[in-house]
Amino acid sequence: MTYDIQVIGGGLAGSEAAWQLAEAGLTVRLSEMRGAGEMTPAHHGDSLAELVCSNSFRSDDADSNAVGLLHQEMRALGSLIMREGDRHRVPAGSALAVDRDGFSTGVTAAIAAHPNITIVRERVDTLPEGPAIIATGPLTAPALSDSIAQETGKDALAFFDAIAPIVHRDTIDMDVAWFQSRWGKGDGTDYINCPLDKEQYHAFVAALIAGEKTEYREWENVPYFEGCMPIEVMAERGVETLRFGPMKGVGLDDPRTGRWPYAAVQLRQDNAHGTLWNIVGFQTKLKHAEQVRLFRTIPGLEKAEFARLGGLHRNTFLRSPELLDATLRLRSRPNVRFAGQITGCEGYIESASIGLIAGRFAAAELTGRTLAPPPVETALGALLTHITGAAEAETYQPMNVNFGLFPPIPGRTKKADRKKMYTDRARAALSEWLAA
Ligand SMILES: Cc1cc2nc3c(=O)[nH]c(=O)nc-3n(C[C@H](O)[C@H](O)[C@H](O)COP(=O)(O)OP(=O)(O)OC[C@H]3O[C@@H](n4cnc5c(N)ncnc54)[C@H](O)[C@@H]3O)c2cc1C
Repeated sequence: MTYDIQVIGGGLAGSEAAWQLAEAGLTVRLSEMRGAGEMTPAHHGDSLAELVCSNSFRSDDADSNAVGLLHQEMRALGSLIMREGDRHRVPAGSALAVDRDGFSTGVTAAIAAHPNITIVRERVDTLPEGPAIIATGPLTAPALSDSIAQETGKDALAFFDAIAPIVHRDTIDMDVAWFQSRWGKGDGTDYINCPLDKEQYHAFVAALIAGEKTEYREWENVPYFEGCMPIEVMAERGVETLRFGPMKGVGLDDPRTGRWPYAAVQLRQDNAHGTLWNIVGFQTKLKHAEQVRLFRTIPGLEKAEFARLGGLHRNTFLRSPELLDATLRLRSRPNVRFAGQITGCEGYIESASIGLIAGRFAAAELTGRTLAPPPVETALGALLTHITGAAEAETYQPMNVNFGLFPPIPGRTKKADRKKMYTDRARAALSEWLAA
């Protein structure tokens, strides 16, 4: 069988990528191992684009929510995932939730009926020689993972994530927190420090130990590595453990007292725009609501808004900012693009959107055109830029789309108006890009 390009993995990203390629007139071999006697630990059936957990695509509000804006952009770009999501919508307020079976059956039927796509039920074990998009997801089968790791180097492909919460910078109370690197080293603006006194520290440690944790299924269980141990596990080791670890107060001069605090929480810049800051060493298995409640008891973070909450999962993902070029090609093997969660985005819609743009980049290349990446002011452009270069490669961890990835709105703006300004600016930028 001859075809123009192979797409490996028929999940959210691979289905969308195959659709975009086929709609552009290219012939696609879509290789999916489910249906060939293989299964991931999270999938249950053979349908393409199976939703492995929740049936929600999250907020559908395109005026004040970054994922809602991404929905809107994907619809404008002819997304199959959004078309079937809209067709199989179930009531969920301002969120877009779908009938999961109807949705994946709809995607499978559309792909199977497309004259340019051949679905082949097969497991792929090696990196292809010809043009390909790899969209094998967080649970990529082991032989292919090995082959990818051989190409990228072992350290550039992770099998577990260890996510610390990320806070929007403009929600940190800088009357309490202050900029300083420990012992005055480095640039004085590398860290933001939040001080705790003895009583606050002890109450915080006790609350961490008592906090409700996420229960994992056996296959999801993440081995704990020194250096990325969950914060509550460290707390359980002894009341002083955190004070000699990520919550050390030494070497930090609280400008309000002129002294080192009893303990401190440090945040480090997480994106080039300086809008997102991660809480250093706070990877955690606490439930999301519990994280918000507890981390808002930290002085300076009482009104914190979180761009991402912490977690630890089994998750295959590349160190994309270093390995991929601006159009998602593997730098060392440009015939291969990556798409979906394996690039380090997180979530059904984010994965599908990166599948969409990977498909469009590949279609342009194979038909001798160049496609400029979508502008960074759009949700798709902001997420893509984060994956392919804006994020710090060394500490790269999976990310949802959020306004912290967008370039800040210049000048002073009222916080209440800001989200609408982001989304209006994004729509204008997308229209211009589409017109070009
Ligand atoms: C347990 C779990 C729960 C999650 N829950 C949610 C949630 O509730 N909401 C949310 O937004 N996101 C969730 N995610 C995160 C993520 O958005 C989804 O995993 C999403 O499906 C990722 O899309 P994808 O296309 O990148 O990968 P997938 O949808 O996983 O698709 C990858 C496909 O590749 C196939 N494949 C793998 N290896 C090979 C191979 N070697 N050869 C051929 N085919 C192969 C797989 O069978 C699969 O069909 C969850 C992830 C996990 C693991």
